[in-house]
This record gives sequence, structure tokens and C-alpha cells, in this order.
Amino acid sequence: MMEKPGIVITGASGRMGQALAKLVVAQGRFQIVGAIEREGSAALGRDLGALCGLGELGVTVTDDPLPAFAKARALVDFTSPAASVAFAALAAQARLVHVVGTTGMEPEHHRKLDLAAHHAVVIQAGNMSLGVNLLTRLTQKIAEALDADWDIEIVEAHHRMKVDAPSGTALMLGEAAAKGRGIDHDKARVSGRDGITGAREKGTIGYSAIRGGDIVGEHDVIFAADGERIILRHIATDRALFARGALKAAAWGLDQKPGRYDMMDVLGL
Ligand code: NAP
Repeated sequence: MMEKPGIVITGASGRMGQALAKLVVAQGRFQIVGAIEREGSAALGRDLGALCGLGELGVTVTDDPLPAFAKARALVDFTSPAASVAFAALAAQARLVHVVGTTGMEPEHHRKLDLAAHHAVVIQAGNMSLGVNLLTRLTQKIAEALDADWDIEIVEAHHRMKVDAPSGTALMLGEAAAKGRGIDHDKARVSGRDGITGAREKGTIGYSAIRGGDIVGEHDVIFAADGERIILRHIATDRALFARGALKAAAWGLDQKPGRYDMMDVLGL
């Protein structure tokens, strides 16, 4: 029987790390060969399966990525921007397919991912779901068709533990809208209004973030004109959705040349 390709999960005890571990085991397409957490994490030394309620898997959570990377073909990484760029350099040396789900990346982090992509396949996306990637395409198309009399607003909601805002997905949608409209996203962006802000400036793209409870992820793209409104909405109810997308990306990446890719490439959109 052919051996399954090895996969490493970083941030293994996190919300997405555990969702990934469960799905890898359920799908049986990859073999987990490493579970990485940061130095000092309470999960170090524990069995990944026991941690996720799966029963012993024989994979001990460690803070030393190198031995695991040496045995793997792919890395799925939902951690923090600083951690993801550090893993990218190591994953590139080991020629791993690096699937980066981490959000909150600044331009300097993207530059480091670009460098890693000279040597290895790097697939990064603020949202790994098919629905959101379709929504992104639709947002671009609608923005192409409508002029600046249509105000664009993006409203997103997430669980109370989320540390960055607007969400990576909201920014992905806003960038698609800016692209469709042919404007510079960073100049058009207006986040979190408060106080006497004055009237809305024409042509801007507004962001609002709601944080509460265990909301997995909800996004509305609103095109508002005088007398009418179009609202595109995506609701994620289970983070296994993102894990499925990430594992699809990892499998797709095994057959690609080194370079920087996103979920649109993986899904052929
Ligand atoms: P989480 O529960 O906080 O998990 C992140 C995990 O990474 C934590 O266990 C954290 O450990 C660990 N970590 C941090 N630095 C590390 C390092 N240097 N080495 C190893 N592990 C490290 O967060 P989450 O909800 O899973 O989300 C993680 C990221 O994925 C966020 O950026 C989130 O926005 C993003 N996300 C993306 C998508 C998508 O589709 N692209 C979907 C969902 C979430 P500590 O807690 O000990 O710091």
C-alpha cells in the first residue's frame, strides 16, 4: 500500500489546530507526523489525539518543528503572523507545501511569505471556504457593474476570542470590491466609525466588526444606493469548513511548482 503523505499541524492545540487534526484523521488522506505549539504552551508533551478527544494518536505536541518537518510533505498553519513567517522559512528549506490560514498579516509578513515561495509552494488565504471565495468573486463582479453612487460597507461578526479586526475575510472582500471598482483599497478603507465622524465620504469602503460568543464567522457585503440595497451574505457555522479547505489546498499543493498561491487557485475560480 502507498504511504500517506506526512502533514504537520502548527498551533495544534488551537481552535483550528484541533479542527484540522480531527479532519485529517477522519479523511485518512494524510498522516499526521507532527503537532507544533509555541514554547511554554500547556499542550507540550501531550498526545494530539487525547488533546482533541480522539484517543491516543501517537503524536506528541512539541515546540521543535524541525524533526517533524523532515518527515512531512505539507504543513497546515493557523497560528499568528510572526509564527507563520518563521515557519515559512523553515518549511521552504524542507520544501513543504505550506498552507497558511493565519490572518492579520501586514505587508512585511507577506514579503516574507513571498521569499519562502521562491523555494516552496505557499498557499495563503484569509478564508479557506468555497462559499467565501465565491462570494469574493461575486463582490468583485458587482463592484465592477456599479458606480460610486453605491456605497460599499462590509460587516463581519466573530467569536469573542478573535484578536484582529477587520477579519482577514472582510479585508479579502473589501479588496475584491476595490479591484472591481478600480480604486486603491488602502486609500478607500474606513474602519470602526465612532463619534462625530461627519457624512460618509463618497467612494470609501467601510468596515464594521462585531465580536461575541462563539460566532464562527459571518460576513455581509452591502452595496447601498438611494432607494435600494444589495446584500451578499456568508455564514459559517462550523470551523471544520475552513479545515476542509486547508486540507484540500495541501493536497492540491503537492502537485504544484514553488510559488505563491491562494484559494482561488486551489478552487479554480
Ligand atoms: P487559536 O485558537 O488562538 O489558535 C492558534 C494557536 O496557535 C494557539 O494554540 C497558539 O498558542 C498557537 N501559536 C501561537 N504562536 C505559535 C508559535 N510560535 N508556534 C506554535 N504555535 C503557536 O486561534 P484560531 O481560532 O485557531 O485561529 C488561528 C488563526 O487562524 C487566526 O489568525 C485566525 O484568524 C485564522 N483563521 C483563519 C481561517 C481561514 O479560513 N483562513 C479560519 C479560521 C481562523 P497560544 O494560544 O499558546 O498562543
